[in-house]
Amino acid sequence: MNKYYLNLVEKSLSIAKEVPNLTILGSDILRRKCVFDNYQTSLLVCGNLKIALAKIRDLTGVGRGLAANQIGSPDRCFVTFVDGEFQYFINPKILSTSVNTNWYKENCLSCGPVACDVERASEVTISFIDKKGLENEKEFDGFWARLLQHEIDHLNGVVNIDHVGKEDVFLINFDPLKEQLRDSR
Ligand SMILES: [Zn+2]
Repeated sequence: MNKYYLNLVEKSLSIAKEVPNLTILGSDILRRKCVFDNYQTSLLVCGNLKIALAKIRDLTGVGRGLAANQIGSPDRCFVTFVDGEFQYFINPKILSTSVNTNWYKENCLSCGPVACDVERASEVTISFIDKKGLENEKEFDGFWARLLQHEIDHLNGVVNIDHVGKEDVFLINFDPLKEQLRDSR
């Protein structure tokens, strides 16, 4: 058995124990389309997401984003942790995506020790409300574009493995911290 799989199984068990509200594949709410109600509610949910993601990161050293339905909330928001900083994305909407795509082996905190090579747009423009309640419209590329599409998928009830055939879902066999975007499969 490869070390990345064993490591992630061990980490998944510690997450299940320490962050019991993390929803996993098979949970109905993970498949629900999340709905925005108001900024104050989303701000509270983002606070809870930040606590949960920080805990997961303390336990495992991995985890770049967490969406509301991954902790059982139907609210339309998620948080990210990139370059040492948490950011809130409230009521995010994809406005446009590039024709160019890239590939990346994704795993997901809600999907356990499995991964799949997912093709996504290389650039994405989204609108969202930030932590201060301000409306933003921004273009993202690189890893950010990848992460935002993964998290917005969650808010639509979609997870990474939905993008590939079942024969293309595999037990994790690579170091997720060393995975790089690729132009082709
Ligand atoms: Zn995920």
